[in-house]
Amino acid sequence: TREIHLASRPHGEPTADDFELAEVDVPALDEGEVLVANHYMSVDPYMRGRMNDTKSYVPPFRIGAPLEGGAVGEVLASTSDRVPVGSTVLHGLGWREHAVLSADKVKVVDASLAPESAYLGALGMTGLTAWGGLTRAAAFQPGDAVFVSGAAGAVGSIVGQIAKVSGASRVVGSAGSPEKVARLLELGFDAAFDYHDGPVAQSLKDAAPDGIDVYFDNVGGEHLEAALSAMNVFGRVAVCGAISQYNATAPTPAPRNLALLIGKQLTLRGFLVKEYADLSAEFAELMAGWLADGSITFDETVREGLDQAPQALIDLLRGGNTGKMLVRL
Ligand code: NDP
Repeated sequence: TREIHLASRPHGEPTADDFELAEVDVPALDEGEVLVANHYMSVDPYMRGRMNDTKSYVPPFRIGAPLEGGAVGEVLASTSDRVPVGSTVLHGLGWREHAVLSADKVKVVDASLAPESAYLGALGMTGLTAWGGLTRAAAFQPGDAVFVSGAAGAVGSIVGQIAKVSGASRVVGSAGSPEKVARLLELGFDAAFDYHDGPVAQSLKDAAPDGIDVYFDNVGGEHLEAALSAMNVFGRVAVCGAISQYNATAPTPAPRNLALLIGKQLTLRGFLVKEYADLSAEFAELMAGWLADGSITFDETVREGLDQAPQALIDLLRGGNTGKMLVRL
């Protein structure tokens, strides 16, 4: 079987040389373990951070060892009573065609309820990030005007749609191409702009003339600065990600207007999706309802084959995806 190893740590943008495709034997199962044939693996921005050798909320990937990340697949062999052969399971050993791990570390999912890839996206970590960040970190209330950056991506596209179905007065998104902007309007955003078209502050002002109450930040930098300027009093920011900085090799200056927090009495709240783990059952039921009645839809960008996984990550960081970036194995 095959897996992707970290060959070297990138400086700036990762390149193909930072990854290595390795041929390995499938290990024999110990008691209480399962062998999973991975069908899909998730490709996420946080993986770029784990390629660096820096202390963070997750340990760095090790050179010469396989990368890790969300994956969903079918159990081919099992020495656990709890997880029978044939189960569809979600687990954390992506970046490989087959995974052997303790049955305690897999979650059995219902493949008849939704396509299995959805458990890596809207029904999984991505969706929980969107919902938890919006309703908990940003304390969203009906009537709020919401701005979300990275809006055509996996998390952002769900944030905007949840805000819309939950009674936002206005939902504005920013994204990196005219095609993505058009897609956001189809998804029900009230306004959207391409952040390459001019200063974000001006585009946001035009898109939300009455200001915003909530900003869901996936991007950081200039976007955060613009959002603080557009905020109404008692506005709230869910600080989810800062993708404009993940490949940066030097500190970035913006936002330069943090003093606005005082006069406008703003709240900036960073969060990690794991804070909302105990809400995942409640969330899954809500999201399953929204997907079933068509009020929320999700896009996927699917690359074929494990050998395409490194390029999928490189492309994700450049905006090559609409919706959730996945590799089918
Ligand atoms: P996305 O599907 O949004 O993919 C990343 C997107 O970022 C790209 O498609 C690209 O879209 C955009 N992007 C890349 N570079 C820039 C840039 N310089 N400026 C603006 N946009 C850029 O990924 P996810 O939905 O998985 O993640 C979105 C954010 O949420 C990330 O910051 C991630 O780290 C964060 N996150 C945080 C979690 C938490 O627990 N706090 C959990 C999960 C995700 P475009 O074409 O529009 O530029």
